[in-house]
Amino acid sequence: MLDAPLAAIGVSAALTGFPLVLPMLAGASLAIHTWGVVDPRSSFYLPVWWRLPAGERHMALTFDDGPHPDVTPRVLDRLAAAGQRATFFVIGENARRHPALVRRISAEGHALGLHSFSHSRFFCTWLPAKVTADIVRGAEVLADLTGRPAPTLFRPPVGLKNPLVAMAVRRLDLRTVTWSCRGRDTTLPPLPVMLQRLRAGLGPRAIMLLHDGHEPDRPADRQRCLAALDDLLPRMHALGLVSRPLIRTADGIALEA
Ligand SMILES: [Zn+2]
Repeated sequence: MLDAPLAAIGVSAALTGFPLVLPMLAGASLAIHTWGVVDPRSSFYLPVWWRLPAGERHMALTFDDGPHPDVTPRVLDRLAAAGQRATFFVIGENARRHPALVRRISAEGHALGLHSFSHSRFFCTWLPAKVTADIVRGAEVLADLTGRPAPTLFRPPVGLKNPLVAMAVRRLDLRTVTWSCRGRDTTLPPLPVMLQRLRAGLGPRAIMLLHDGHEPDRPADRQRCLAALDDLLPRMHALGLVSRPLIRTADGIALEA
């Protein structure tokens, strides 16, 4: 006799709750998807390395979107003067336009990483075959210019990861490197704000992101990168922190010796 009323209550609750449950589920799945795509620490869609392995005492300075004919030489001058070496995730099209800078980066002991050929803002909407072709084109430019094997460390344009990009990365057997710290220098925040963000991220195991260049044919102010280095390099020296190029290991990434 009790079953019918209980069933009725259950049905009623389910029916009244139904309109709320669907938006909640949709919201939760959207939040998970957004986290997976955007968060540099998320390996939801593909494995990422966002900091150096446990026990590492030093750090990695990384520069995206170059080379740039004005900014990159001044970055290299500052790194050389400070005795620091870094990793440059260059855009293939920029590398093609400034071959001497790519050779200089390599000759001065820094690492080159892949950052696509085009840096298209539609990159993460492309099908895997097109993503793959764009990455390969960038890799071929670097191999041709340096005479060395193409890099296998990859940083997705704008750091966005999704299943389409993941398929290409798996196909090419790349290591995806994001970052532990950035100053959001491309958005031109007030300088003290940017510097505070970067200073807060200085330390062992850090992978720091700065931008020495910009998307091809979309000029942008990258002088902040130089201001950041003028602030960070003396601090690194005072802390005994050394930046070295990133290398691939059997199971992840590490700093070059
Ligand atoms: Zn970029």
